[in-house]
Amino acid sequence: MYDIIIIGSGPAGLSAAIYAQRACLDTIVIEKNGISGGQVLNTWEVDNYPGFPGVTGFELSRSMQTSSEQELYRMRSCRSSFQEM
Ligand SMILES: Cc1cc2nc3c(=O)[nH]c(=O)nc-3n(C[C@H](O)[C@H](O)[C@H](O)COP(=O)(O)OP(=O)(O)OC[C@H]3O[C@@H](n4cnc5c(N)ncnc54)[C@H](O)[C@@H]3O)c2cc1C
Repeated sequence: MYDIIIIGSGPAGLSAAIYAQRACLDTIVIEKNGISGGQVLNTWEVDNYPGFPGVTGFELSRSMQTSSEQELYRMRSCRSSFQEM
């Protein structure tokens, strides 16, 4: 039983997961594409994301995923998981 089920691990889903984990809510993120990142994966260059000038969509999505997983590790006393299907 989870407190929150987040459908999709694009930027919105990953952000929601971080906030849910910080609130110590039992959280699961379900992604249908087998990889996190959402639509940003479809673009070569993202040129308007603060702090990441000229980053590729793939690099940005990997960075988002890593940061979400680090948050998950930090909050390991809470039960959370990712499911990429
Ligand atoms: C070609 C392209 C270029 C872009 N370039 C830029 C740019 O340069 N700068 C910028 O700021 N924005 C850009 N964007 C827009 C940016 O990608 C989106 O604003 C952003 O991805 C929206 O994030 P989101 O999390 O709301 O939704 P999404 O990115 O759409 O993520 C939704 C996620 O939910 C998953 N999902 C959907 N339905 C289900 C389901 N039933 N079950 C499980 N999982 C599900 C999807 O697989 C996806 O991973 C671009 C978009 C595209 C397509």
